Amino acid sequence: MLTAISRYGARVLPITEELVAGCKARGEFIQGPQIAEFEAAFAARHGLAPAHAIAAAYGRIAFYYMLKALDLPAGSEIIFPSLTFWVVPELARVAGLTVVFADVDPKTFNMDPDSVERLITPQTRVIVPTHLYGLPCDMDRLLAIAGRHNLTVIEDCAHALGATYKGKPVGTFGTGALFSFQTLKPLNCYGGGLALVADPVIAANVRRQVEALPWPSEKRVTDRLLMGRLQRIFMKPWVFSISLFPVLWVSALIDANPDVFFWEKIRSLQPLPEQYTERFPNVQAVIGLEALKHLDEWTSRAQANAAHVNQTLAGIPGIQLPLAPADRTHVYYQYCVIGPEGPKRDELVVRCVRRGIDIETLHVDVPPDMELFGTVTAEADGARRAAQAMQIPVHSGLRRDQIDRVARVVRSVLEDA
Ligand SMILES: *Cc1c(COP(=O)(O)O)cnc(C)c1O
Repeated sequence: MLTAISRYGARVLPITEELVAGCKARGEFIQGPQIAEFEAAFAARHGLAPAHAIAAAYGRIAFYYMLKALDLPAGSEIIFPSLTFWVVPELARVAGLTVVFADVDPKTFNMDPDSVERLITPQTRVIVPTHLYGLPCDMDRLLAIAGRHNLTVIEDCAHALGATYKGKPVGTFGTGALFSFQTLKPLNCYGGGLALVADPVIAANVRRQVEALPWPSEKRVTDRLLMGRLQRIFMKPWVFSISLFPVLWVSALIDANPDVFFWEKIRSLQPLPEQYTERFPNVQAVIGLEALKHLDEWTSRAQANAAHVNQTLAGIPGIQLPLAPADRTHVYYQYCVIGPEGPKRDELVVRCVRRGIDIETLHVDVPPDMELFGTVTAEADGARRAAQAMQIPVHSGLRRDQIDRVARVVRSVLEDA
């Protein structure tokens, strides 16, 4: 039988169950000293003192508290890329800001500085460079624009922990940055996020807001860990082949979107869902502390897998491989190629899926095209083109023989296109 390779690859510590049991035994499942240790380790990795890292229930809510701490006048505008995860701009709206979307460069999938500059008005206060799929944005240009117009920069690093721009880690360029610790993100704590805030006054404000929140219940955290464990089991190649893969296979044929099983329902986030406004529990910090020790090794493996796919796919006419400019490192949270668009692209995806390689098409969203956002000021042509990418699995969990199979199948499908 065909063993299918999943698009998803959670980074899992073999000792997860022991870490959880240890927390329970010490009575430190929800509250405990490792939250501060984790924050300190995360800050230190970025050359900052412990007070600058504040762990929260989600990356998105860490972002929301940073916006609240900025205390901007009503009607302030905030510029996002038009290719991003919809919850981030939605939370800016909940924080009372007007969202504007700048185009992305389909070569890098990142915010186009020229588009940002065109959309600046006297009300613009914040820009959110989002290091999409693990490649840092053109920070020199974005920081120069922010400097000229006196804008606050908040980096969305949800995909890019470990990536650097001119040797400096992402998350250290602006006033603040958000990171995500969801199951599939670079550092998996089965949920959670963090605000990394350079400005000490803003950092203290974010910490005050977060520390005023209630702790989650034991049940909530236990359920979250169980969900993580189930996702993990489902992503093992052999289980994936006999369970979820047929769902993806069938839906690839009938054009349904099975990701509804994984992603949250698109809806207004006003009022904030209850699980957003709780604290980050100690057990997840314990997992994060241990995972941080493995991060660089995981990153290197994803990079080596991406390099192998780059090599195998080189030279196919009409196919754009992911760009990694020499002044930055790409951590390949996603590996995207752009080739044929529309139904032709979908047909290629189906062919890969039938041969056991699970290809994702759009991992994030084009918010200006979503009903939720109504009519917004936006430039999005590049984002729409970037949304035609095929996302090839290169995650750190794929062994050499597996990545080789991925690369060869994709090559033969693209060559026949
Ligand atoms: C996952 C993600 C986030 C937010 O992370 P959460 O921890 O789920 O809130 C933010 N931005 C992007 C681009 C993401 O993919």
